[in-house]
Amino acid sequence: AGTSTGTDEVPAIRLRKLTKVFGDTVAVNAVDLDIRHGEFFSMLGPSGSGKTTVLRLIAGFELPTSGTIELEGKDVTAKAPFQRDVNTVFQDYALFPHMSLVDNVAYGLRVRGMPGNQRRERAREALDRVQLGKFVGRKPAQLSGGQRQRVALARALVVEPKVLLLDEPLGALDLKLRQQMQVELKELQRSLGITFIFVTHDQEEALTMSDRIGVFNNGSIEQIGTAHEIYERPGDIFVANFVGTSNIFDAGQAQSVYGRAEPLCIRPERLRVAWAGEPERRAGVTSRSGSVTSFVYVGHATQVRVQLDGGPAVVALVPEKLPGSDAELVNRPVTVSWDDDAVVWLPAHGS
Ligand code: ATP
Repeated sequence: AGTSTGTDEVPAIRLRKLTKVFGDTVAVNAVDLDIRHGEFFSMLGPSGSGKTTVLRLIAGFELPTSGTIELEGKDVTAKAPFQRDVNTVFQDYALFPHMSLVDNVAYGLRVRGMPGNQRRERAREALDRVQLGKFVGRKPAQLSGGQRQRVALARALVVEPKVLLLDEPLGALDLKLRQQMQVELKELQRSLGITFIFVTHDQEEALTMSDRIGVFNNGSIEQIGTAHEIYERPGDIFVANFVGTSNIFDAGQAQSVYGRAEPLCIRPERLRVAWAGEPERRAGVTSRSGSVTSFVYVGHATQVRVQLDGGPAVVALVPEKLPGSDAELVNRPVTVSWDDDAVVWLPAHGS
């Protein structure tokens, strides 16, 4: 998936004013979204922001209160799930415990009336693709969590859907396995060229895997962009806070630094800390004095918390070795500097 949008290209999925109301809860609020062919698109947001409901609407497990869903240019809003060329991988895998892996994977082909030999062959190929070729005769209980996740993937992919929907598919795995599966899933998606729509509340996961991300809040999409755009240019305070760590200056604090009353955000790795307290006097650089309040060593760098004089407390992520022990550095007067082009101005009325 490139970043160009040919205007005449029919998207894989098109949502228009998609809305779902449960009782007095507006779970999804007039969402407009185009997802391109072959794209790895993540829906990222806090619990209850409406991601899963959008996925279930696309799958056809729920019908919208209003709005439309198009799949490859065809309106499928009122179609049953089996009439849509999409398939879903759930977090709990939903495998049949009494069936062997090959029968689990072949199930969708059986429902579609494919003859036995042919469907077992296709199921074996799909299991090979997820590196489970040698386990075809096992039952799900004889597998690890990561292996079960791969079976669920093979089962969803064997019917060759145009779009694969994944609802927090790695949520049940431990961190190491999760990171390994992130890489595998991304490679699989790239080699198959199938459109993936991936729901997660884990911003790091969304940033590492996606071609583009839609950030959800309260049933709406706050921002759509590449990982780089979302991280480097958050569109509002919600996105700046939800994705990564942000130093936010409120309108008054921004006014005192830049003479402009509008909130701003600076990422921790864009701040520099001068331990001897000397300000950087260069054009395009802003410096402020403050004092160190704490440190957190994070392996590749150290997070240094600094209370700016007359300003907010900020977090700087510094890669260099610190010039002393914690005890020597806490309360030490320092200067924090940043390039002015690291500043992202935010609309005053973001949520
Ligand atoms: P999570 O990450 O926790 O899964 P989410 O972003 O996927 O959250 P949804 O599951 O889409 O959020 O829920 C959005 C809102 O709709 C929530 O307030 C939820 O309580 C409500 N909701 C979802 N499904 C139903 C339902 N079947 N009946 C009533 N309310 C529902």
